[in-house]
Amino acid sequence: MSSPHGHWLGDTESKPAPPPLNRVQALVNTLELPTGPDRLADPADAVPWLVDNGFAAPGADVGPDDLALVRGVREALRAMLVHNAGGPPPGAKAIAPLRQVAAVGAARSDLGEHGEIMLSATGDTVPARLVELLLIVRDAQRDGTWARLKACGNDECRWAFYDQSRNHGGTWCDMASCGNKLKNRQFRARKRQARSG
Ligand SMILES: [Zn+2]
Repeated sequence: MSSPHGHWLGDTESKPAPPPLNRVQALVNTLELPTGPDRLADPADAVPWLVDNGFAAPGADVGPDDLALVRGVREALRAMLVHNAGGPPPGAKAIAPLRQVAAVGAARSDLGEHGEIMLSATGDTVPARLVELLLIVRDAQRDGTWARLKACGNDECRWAFYDQSRNHGGTWCDMASCGNKLKNRQFRARKRQARSG
């Protein structure tokens, strides 16, 4: 499926999370902050993405309310990733869309051939399928991978990246493009302040 934007940054992650946590990363990275393209703004871009990523059934009716909810969930998750990166805990308002998903959705348990227990979202609407994100986050919170999924330390970026550094101390989605840019900006600001002070 082609898009008017052609290339989407989120299609090639330089610091990818392991599956299935990469689904959370993929959702958060459907928007290039602060003013970049939003893959979930226009149904023509959003619906193919939602189907490809399992959040909408092929041929499903995806309404404006569904898209608004997905975008709200995206920002709720981003707020949680800011917290993973050492920022403040997400406020009640920030995570309200995710709470809405939890309130209306349901999960079904199943047993695999070898006795492994699996949980999956029930229902085929977009809000019902978003429950899968909750299941993924829950597993990641238990196995320790959740803390490594972070939002970039550049507050104009907040791109989701998976911190593979040994000490979990990674801060930038990409040191070359994001970390340096921000450091240069802060350096210039300090110089300006020094000159005017
Ligand atoms: Zn960044």
